[in-house]
Amino acid sequence: MAEILVLGAGPAGISAAYHAGKAGKETVLLEARERYGGLCDHFHKAGFRFDHAVHFAFSKNEAYSALLEKADLITHRPEPYNYEQGRWLKHPVQNNLYPLPTEEKVEAIKSFIERPAREEGSNYRSWLYEQFGQVIADRYPARYTEKYWTVPPEDLSTDWIGNRLYRPSLEEVLFGAMTDDTPLTYYLPELYYPRRGGFRAIFDPLVEELDLRTGKEVVRIDTQRQVVECRDGSKEHYEHLVSSLPLPEIAKMIDNAPAPVLEAAGELWATAIALVSIGLKVPQAGDHLWFYIYDREILPARGHAPYRKSPDNAPEGCSSLQFETYFSRYKPLPMAEETLLEHVTGAAEKMGLFKTSDLAVTDCRILPYANVVFEKGMQDKRRIILEFLEKKGILSVGRFGEWDYLWTDQCYLSGKKVENLPCML
Ligand SMILES: Cc1cc2nc3c(=O)[nH]c(=O)nc-3n(C[C@H](O)[C@H](O)[C@H](O)COP(=O)(O)OP(=O)(O)OC[C@H]3O[C@@H](n4cnc5c(N)ncnc54)[C@H](O)[C@@H]3O)c2cc1C
Repeated sequence: MAEILVLGAGPAGISAAYHAGKAGKETVLLEARERYGGLCDHFHKAGFRFDHAVHFAFSKNEAYSALLEKADLITHRPEPYNYEQGRWLKHPVQNNLYPLPTEEKVEAIKSFIERPAREEGSNYRSWLYEQFGQVIADRYPARYTEKYWTVPPEDLSTDWIGNRLYRPSLEEVLFGAMTDDTPLTYYLPELYYPRRGGFRAIFDPLVEELDLRTGKEVVRIDTQRQVVECRDGSKEHYEHLVSSLPLPEIAKMIDNAPAPVLEAAGELWATAIALVSIGLKVPQAGDHLWFYIYDREILPARGHAPYRKSPDNAPEGCSSLQFETYFSRYKPLPMAEETLLEHVTGAAEKMGLFKTSDLAVTDCRILPYANVVFEKGMQDKRRIILEFLEKKGILSVGRFGEWDYLWTDQCYLSGKKVENLPCML
């Protein structure tokens, strides 16, 4: 019997298990896959290491910063780029319009000046118009939204934005239209990445201390008898249960969950990623650490260069790229994975990132949970499930357990909430 049983060995579950263990509790961590790390894990192919999409470390919270201090990290300046119709623009576009033709700059600036006043309760598209004017909004962030969130911006609420989008002054827009010598305005001053071992290496020191059981996919939870059942038939009894599993999944695993909970679970949805990874037998692939792609006819929304995050991610003399194509129940992947691989390599070659003759290895795989979508009304459905879990004595943590747009540092803190369980006080 585990005093504390934790489900899912991503950052949130690892953090929960670590903090429970540290407090002297008999703790067991169950993970469906054969590896820990969840979205922060990686895979290897022909000597290349690829993370599960672009991942950098950053944090304003003390606990996670203390964890980062233990790691050997490379520091990166956050200088992403934007690709559109053969042009590379600095990020963010709104205050880096310099490469555009003069007439297009004038049109964009005019629309910025004429942008509508802020209205309470607006959707994401009107929020974008209010911040950047219609021309910039429609051409860049709105188009990106359709690729990244898989829905038009008018379908999204605005409560996930925080400081993610830079809101420039008129002076900054004008300055960035006249010169490309603009200051860094990314919302984080520095990004970090482990020198060795990929992104998940940040968590390695914690995992060493855990009773982690992999290959344990949880399929059923009996909250009455306090037993968790795995697909392999094994059972684990618990005194307290902490879960980082996605809310729509866990709701269906609990015996006799009421209809409104199951209904809410059926309506919550997240985007998925088709991840195309490319290893190259040349030392350089493009010029940028990561970049956003606005062209509709190129399916990925974002690409990055794993070998630039750390040279440890590619064999000597080689380079690598990875592309994220988002899809969902509202925007299915329009082609088979094999065809997507061809589409992405073809598009990347046209973008000038490499030549097909440089290819060493390619890979396409699906990550079923990427970003929870802040559709209007989502918060109510989430609340129904979270209240139900609380009633059943389950602490739900992490990006898909809280059903929120959480970064890794926030998931680490979310898992640390295990310290607030009455049995821990
Ligand atoms: C494209 C992308 C880029 C990102 N970039 C960054 C970044 O640069 N910096 C940053 O800080 N954060 C980034 N994030 C966010 C970060 O990946 C997540 O916040 C974090 O990994 C979530 O941790 P978690 O433990 O909550 O969930 P997960 O990492 O999803 O872990 C959940 C775990 O539960 C397991 N599981 C699921 N179902 C079961 C089951 N039935 N039984 C047992 N186990 C199960 C899964 O296999 C998984 O291991 C990014 C996310 C995405 C999608």
